[in-house]
Amino acid sequence: MSKTIFEKHSIGRQGVTLPKNDVEVSLENIIPRKFRRKTELKLPEVSELDVMRHFIELSSKNHFIEKGFYPLGSCTMKYNPKVQETLVRDLNISNLHPLQPEETVQGALEILYELQKDLSEISGMSAVTLQPSAGAHGEFVGLKIMQAYHKHKGNNHKTKIILPDTAHGTNPASVHLTGYEVIEIKSNENGTVDIEALKAVMDDSVAGVMLTNPNTLGIFEDQIEIISEMVHAVDGLMYMDGANLNALMGIVKAGEIGFDVMHFNLHKTFSTPHGGGGPGSGPVGVIDKLIPFLPVPMIGKKEDKFFLDYSHQETSIGKVLTFYGNFAVNVRAYIYIKMLGAKGIKDVAENAIINANYVKVKLQDYFHIPFNKNCMHEFVASGDWQKEKYGIKTLDIAKRILDKGYHAPTIYFPLLVHEAMMIEPTETESKETLDCFIKAMREIAKECEETPEIVKNAPINTPIKRVDDTRAVRQLDVKFKWSLEDRETCD
Ligand SMILES: *Cc1c(COP(=O)(O)O)cnc(C)c1O
Repeated sequence: MSKTIFEKHSIGRQGVTLPKNDVEVSLENIIPRKFRRKTELKLPEVSELDVMRHFIELSSKNHFIEKGFYPLGSCTMKYNPKVQETLVRDLNISNLHPLQPEETVQGALEILYELQKDLSEISGMSAVTLQPSAGAHGEFVGLKIMQAYHKHKGNNHKTKIILPDTAHGTNPASVHLTGYEVIEIKSNENGTVDIEALKAVMDDSVAGVMLTNPNTLGIFEDQIEIISEMVHAVDGLMYMDGANLNALMGIVKAGEIGFDVMHFNLHKTFSTPHGGGGPGSGPVGVIDKLIPFLPVPMIGKKEDKFFLDYSHQETSIGKVLTFYGNFAVNVRAYIYIKMLGAKGIKDVAENAIINANYVKVKLQDYFHIPFNKNCMHEFVASGDWQKEKYGIKTLDIAKRILDKGYHAPTIYFPLLVHEAMMIEPTETESKETLDCFIKAMREIAKECEETPEIVKNAPINTPIKRVDDTRAVRQLDVKFKWSLEDRETCD
């Protein structure tokens, strides 16, 4: 374990020298005596070099996209262009206040207005709200809009939302939160929606169907038109979980193939840093008939002026986040879209698909691939050959991948694949990187056969070895205790 910054403390060292305070203020007027600390705050005394080394060391122990390949399926861990970071930190953007008068933030409103338009264009939807703060939040907002539509029409008998068994866990959670009942249907042998199973549960009580396309097996749902006809016949609505839009954009528009509502994960498809728990952005697009229910405000334009549009407040589901969404994430997505243009957007999807298929074909003799069709931007392999023959679990394989310098794929999801490993290379990786990953995966397959103990005891090269997840959750200990006397001079 590396030392904490406290353990690097040494009396008298310091990193910065502040100028002498030349402002006459009495502390008495600012902080009353009873609130002031009675003892010195025990901050570590460290030099600038100590601090730099400390944090650089910590950062290098983590895995991140700039350090190495990150094939975490369903998460679209693509490279985030640095120009976005530079621009978003520009004081003209980062110093804005959300309560400034509209006429002083015309540029910011224009960016949001343009982003609404671009996302509408990409999805084939009529209007898009930028408020939701993540994919799961977008799902909830989309479902609330569907609910408002049904309520408006007096469809009070509608109580169910249908989901396939490949759905991401947030889907049933959002449905439940909205107050609908979750009806799960099985997938067919191709890994797509089973039309017969759908027919069996389709009736007047169905408020809608929620599908991910391409689905979480990385397979394109090719019966959307049939499904959408069935759902619309009972005045149900079609929801698309757009987390996998990286495979579709520029090629297929959700609004043109029968979907009525969808969410975007800007932090996935439109390349803004994610993985540390936020912030994200999960805009929601809708077709014409659902526009009245969108959250307020939308960003409107009248003549040459941009404004916060509350005109549909009466029918709107209301506000779903403070102010107008995660502005900085939305600005990054705007820059990304404008940088790529229509052709670039399509290239992204095509290259993501080519990369995933390349890796899949190169690994299919080494790992079982249960639904082995041409995939979209990702595919799901299985560790069941290794488990049956050598007693090696997918978790072991994932840990061994860390030893090779890569982030592990998503494992044990989707649930219908045993020992699942969901691999999403993304379009930003070169053939050389993919070849190195393929080589590493083949080596691991060989180790499973010849030296299984190595795989079972992995990882051996990482700063922290295998952790006891269960104990970490049950006996959470986040309090650091240390005193000067514990200090050692070297490791
Ligand atoms: C990531 C993901 C979500 C949830 O999105 P968050 O932004 O993490 O809330 C939903 N569905 C699918 C298929 C996803 O991959």
